[in-house]
Amino acid sequence: MSDHEIPRSGAARVGQVKDITSLSNPIVKDIRALSMKKHRDETGTFLAEGLKLVIDAIDLGWTIRTLIYAKAQRGKPQVEKIAALTVARGGMVLEVSEKVLTAITRRDNPQAVIAVFDQKLAPLAVISPARDETWIALDRVRDPGNLGTIIRTADAAGASGVILIGETVDPFSMETVRATMGSVFAVPLVRATETEFLNWSKKAAALVVGSHLKGSVDYRTIGYKDQPVVLLMGNEQQGLPDTLATACGKLARIPQTGRADSLNLAIATGVMLFEARRHLLELDEPSA
Ligand code: SAM
Repeated sequence: MSDHEIPRSGAARVGQVKDITSLSNPIVKDIRALSMKKHRDETGTFLAEGLKLVIDAIDLGWTIRTLIYAKAQRGKPQVEKIAALTVARGGMVLEVSEKVLTAITRRDNPQAVIAVFDQKLAPLAVISPARDETWIALDRVRDPGNLGTIIRTADAAGASGVILIGETVDPFSMETVRATMGSVFAVPLVRATETEFLNWSKKAAALVVGSHLKGSVDYRTIGYKDQPVVLLMGNEQQGLPDTLATACGKLARIPQTGRADSLNLAIATGVMLFEARRHLLELDEPSA
């Protein structure tokens, strides 16, 4: 066991880097505990994996609480730069063994760089959708993969954020964060009870479009232009409850054929979202 501080040359010289190889190190134990919702809730933090993702997070203004990287990364300019930045902003930097990384990420081939960040959730009361903004509201989403995919899709389509209604899966679980592919840092997330959402939607002056298997309107015929839109999606098992469905300005359906009785929630959200924002999305010039 060699848990000591390494004197640095290079970017991390401005602070301290702890060298950790032992799984029984209390800092490592605390980070490993972030795989549990209870510990994430208590600390208000979460774990994100991958150098690109960590760089993206910094670019988007997030502050690293703890940077953890594999020994083999020592001296790599990007890692040294992030380490120096982390220390300068009061964070901690850990250089760890492969065994420690594997234990923290619970993966056989862990990413070489991971980081702990503070969770960010916006209160619904401060959200006031403007013209051309599209918000996604998810009723009691259960599946972390679905939620992560929806956050990633929201980012790609330029949605303004995702509102999580009622008892939902944790947006900061490792599985959800992985599925967002970094978009968790780009898309504002909001939590609300059903009652809070219903009260807010009355005042929000936005068109609330419920996506519903019994919807009477073809989702392609709705006038999404020139107004704020909230796309309200139902729970994976039960769909939208009447309490939420009756609060919608439109109940939209995606026509289906074949044997499937419904679309997967994340797919349905993607289909609705790209239609609602079709008039706002353009292809970039292809790169040479
Ligand atoms: N058994 C559920 C039900 O009765 O609604 C199926 C829910 S589906 C897996 C999850 C959500 O995706 C739905 O609540 C709805 O918001 C959306 N969805 C799936 N297929 C849809 C379709 N064809 N038209 C509109 N929304 C759809």
